[in-house]
Amino acid sequence: MYLKQFKAQHYRNLQEFELEFDPNVNIFIGKNAQGKTNLLEAIYFLALTRSHRTNSDKELIAFGDEFANVYGHVYKSQVDLTLRVLITKKGKKVWLNRVEQAKLSKYVGQLNAILFSPEDLELIKGAPALRRRFMDQEFGQINAEYLYFASKYKQVLQQKNNYLKQLAKKEAHDLLFLDVLSDQLAGVAAEVVVRRYQFLTYLDEFAQDAYKSISSSGEELKLRYHPSVADVSEQDDTEIVYHKLLANFKQNKQLEIKKGTTLVGPHRDDISFELDGKDAHLYGSQGQQRTIALSIKLAEIQLVHQLTSEYPLLLLDDVMSELDHERQGALLSYIHGKTQTFITTTDLAGISREIIKKPKIYQINSGKIRLAKEN
Ligand code: ATP
Ligand code: MG
Repeated sequence: MYLKQFKAQHYRNLQEFELEFDPNVNIFIGKNAQGKTNLLEAIYFLALTRSHRTNSDKELIAFGDEFANVYGHVYKSQVDLTLRVLITKKGKKVWLNRVEQAKLSKYVGQLNAILFSPEDLELIKGAPALRRRFMDQEFGQINAEYLYFASKYKQVLQQKNNYLKQLAKKEAHDLLFLDVLSDQLAGVAAEVVVRRYQFLTYLDEFAQDAYKSISSSGEELKLRYHPSVADVSEQDDTEIVYHKLLANFKQNKQLEIKKGTTLVGPHRDDISFELDGKDAHLYGSQGQQRTIALSIKLAEIQLVHQLTSEYPLLLLDDVMSELDHERQGALLSYIHGKTQTFITTTDLAGISREIIKKPKIYQINSGKIRLAKEN
């Protein structure tokens, strides 16, 4: 798939624009704070209806304005689509082929985008919450059921936790109602856990392959899923996971009431990344962690392709110049001709031009985007 036309109004510092992108490579050059990340974020937002940088959509509206709009025209192998998201201070609305969609899950997934920025190193280095967010965001954009169950899980978890808090404070007493909530939660959780296993197994395979292609070291990368319910395994189907979770909730009922919160479930899961059996979170060098993060992103491209038969857009924010020429070459040959790619950089000199054939080059200056004279 590729994004042919892209239009935005009142999006952060970007002046209103309408662009026609190259189906292969688009490069955006600009000094710091001119709007490069804002532009990639706007494309990502068009695809996922959420930002990679903030959970507060309001921040995306240009200072002093009341709303922001992003529009895109997407070409896929079978169809072309028009997409639109309107962001207001009260919430957002989405349109697919000019028809407003009441459910975000009908919209998300029509356009797929994978974004890679230096902050993605945190996926390896940072806290487990970031890895869960990664799973929810990335699996959610390729699988509508995952998106549905992950958000349903959050909703039921909140309900159960609220009730546990009331029980803890003795403001509520109905343990049967708690069982009903636990039962519901275990059902939804099982759907999430089984899909996490499934997608991470694919991702592991693709990431191993990508790591081999972009690193010359010969180490073996392994992704491992750590569901918080200890006795769950990859072979378990949703029914079995449901029963194991339910057993856990039963066993820990009093403890959960005492703590006023749910102790196990997808909200406590984690993933680890191992190089030759050593956890890279603890032992990986900065360079190894960066190569892992990049491999995961490349693996996601394959995962999207595996599940949707289309290649997603690849958004590379400020990462090309951080890779040496050998890795730039390995990266570009890995994705060559498959994904429409958007690259931001402060300086074209950091990017090896001989590797990228005929990119479309833009300048971004104080939020104004125009074609560069280098074209
Ligand atoms: P760098 O090279 O440092 O990463 P950049 O070109 O990626 O820079 P952006 O992150 O896109 O820069 O930000 C550009 C500017 O947008 C910043 O100066 C920021 O203050 C401004 N900005 C952020 N949010 C808004 C908003 N809601 N309204 C107007 N301007 C905003
Ligand atoms: Mg930036």
